[in-house]
Amino acid sequence: MERFNERGMLIIPNPVRESSASAKILVAGRLFCPNGHDLISPRALFDGHPGILIKAAKGSRRGCIALSPVYGSTSRIVLDIDLVKGEIMDLYCPACDILLPIHSPCSCGANLVALFTSKHPDFTDCIAICNRVGCINSHILINDEVISLSMIDTF
Ligand SMILES: [Zn+2]
Ligand SMILES: [Zn+2]
Repeated sequence: MERFNERGMLIIPNPVRESSASAKILVAGRLFCPNGHDLISPRALFDGHPGILIKAAKGSRRGCIALSPVYGSTSRIVLDIDLVKGEIMDLYCPACDILLPIHSPCSCGANLVALFTSKHPDFTDCIAICNRVGCINSHILINDEVISLSMIDTF
């Protein structure tokens, strides 16, 4: 019964807010590195949804982290690296090790890193997440428009 829209976003009713008929959550169904590798992996599941698997590095420490694909959720699974709150990490594709590109500065002083919604990297269609541990800033950009949480509820 899963339904993806044309951008690979899965739109499902929000089980937490069942009482409101219009409440929906947005789940990233497809995300790619600049070389077209799929960053969504069933190795880490969040409420049954495959997570976003990326490699993080800080100095000599490196390992994989899995982020919840549910927009607005800060759930994170750390697989084999210790994260320190407030630290700024370099984020890489786990398949080809390419440094994920910076979309724009985050308001916290770190950077928003782009995860592309198609195999052809385009900064106007991406999800941007902050690379500072503990910063919950993330944005979805579709056709260069920032989709805010309140707008997602209207899907
Ligand atoms: Zn890659
Ligand atoms: Zn930030």
